[in-house]
Amino acid sequence: MAGRSQDRSLREELTCAICCELFSEPVMLDCMHHFCKTCIQGYWASGTRVPSCPQCRREFPSRSFRTHYLLSGLVEKVRRCGSVGHQHRMRKHLEDALQARQKEMENFLQRKRVTQEDICGLMKVSGELNFKIRTQFACLHQILEEEERAVLAELAQKEAQLLAQLHRDVHGLEEGISVLQRDIERIEQALSKMEEVSLLEVESLDIRPSVRVETQPAFDLEHYRDSCSGPLQYIFWRRMLRSICPAPAPLTFDPESAHPNLVFSRDLTAVTERSRAPPVPMNPRRFRQCVNVLSSQTFDSGRHYWEVWVGSKTKWDLGVAAEAVDRAAKVKLCPENGYWTLRLRNRTEYWATTTPWVRLTPRRAPRKVGVFLDCREGTVTFFDAGDMSHLFTFHQVSAERYCPFFSTCFSDGSDNMEPMRLCHLSL
Ligand SMILES: [Zn+2]
Ligand SMILES: [Zn+2]
Repeated sequence: MAGRSQDRSLREELTCAICCELFSEPVMLDCMHHFCKTCIQGYWASGTRVPSCPQCRREFPSRSFRTHYLLSGLVEKVRRCGSVGHQHRMRKHLEDALQARQKEMENFLQRKRVTQEDICGLMKVSGELNFKIRTQFACLHQILEEEERAVLAELAQKEAQLLAQLHRDVHGLEEGISVLQRDIERIEQALSKMEEVSLLEVESLDIRPSVRVETQPAFDLEHYRDSCSGPLQYIFWRRMLRSICPAPAPLTFDPESAHPNLVFSRDLTAVTERSRAPPVPMNPRRFRQCVNVLSSQTFDSGRHYWEVWVGSKTKWDLGVAAEAVDRAAKVKLCPENGYWTLRLRNRTEYWATTTPWVRLTPRRAPRKVGVFLDCREGTVTFFDAGDMSHLFTFHQVSAERYCPFFSTCFSDGSDNMEPMRLCHLSL
């Protein structure tokens, strides 16, 4: 509105008081009033004696004026703005501006919808995670409480056993005491009535008391106290660890599934690649093309976790394979071929072998990799087992039977000769 009224007053300012149109060739008189050149000339020619200003009536000695070029330009501009072409262009400009804003509005609304959906998703997943964490802690609490009950029951049983023994000792001694009491009374009686007692009877009386009571060797209270001392939290934590599920599974390599170039430690927990292959019996379970091996343990249900030492190897692949993978062919490790794996290449490049591969950027190079297989959820998750930081999760994992999968890759002389090891939880 302000723009409009400004526009109008500008137009009024630029309007000639004689013809009431926009100035044409505006000129300025000495009184500073403006008129069209032809208007003022016409006005003056129309017979007035002394030239004067039609607005303020000031009279001038001669018919003189000054051409006002700046004003001419301004008038031209205002005139152009009023033209049909200009109006049309302006309308088009406004329409374009409106359309652009409407389009942006649609974009903002769409983004707002997406963000609100994200908020809902976040809340939902947070709730699920919250429940999951509380469930797991409830399990831990239960395990801990059960351990506590078991330890206390053990203590109570020990106490009861010792008490029973000590009570038996007390009872035995009490019986002995009463036997001795009777003996003493009898002997005292005999003493007081020496003349009436048969000497024979006195002679047959043994000097030593006839009653004997066997008690336990000296009870050791200190030993009893010591039996429940030491680093109790650590002792109980170790006991508790046995009940945790899943705890790291003690896997071993299955040499019969291994490529002929792979050699194993005696306990089948370490594997390395040697370029010269010793002769091995061929069987359909053996990988023929790549230096791969599976573990002897396979899974078709439940949740399983295992840890693999990769140390400072320069390349490796590990994860999960479907039992049914083609072991005779050289195939790409990807979910479509029944492999859900992580790989290291060139010492520092970590990849998840999805299709296409996803580059991972762990905070530090993992030396021990944890693999978590959840058969029911259909997920395979990888961790840096050093600090249990999450590396990657495969979803929609599906197979009839799953095998822990390993590839040492080639040793490349001695560069990558460090064995890959299956970690067993040792406490
Ligand atoms: Zn005029
Ligand atoms: Zn004037």
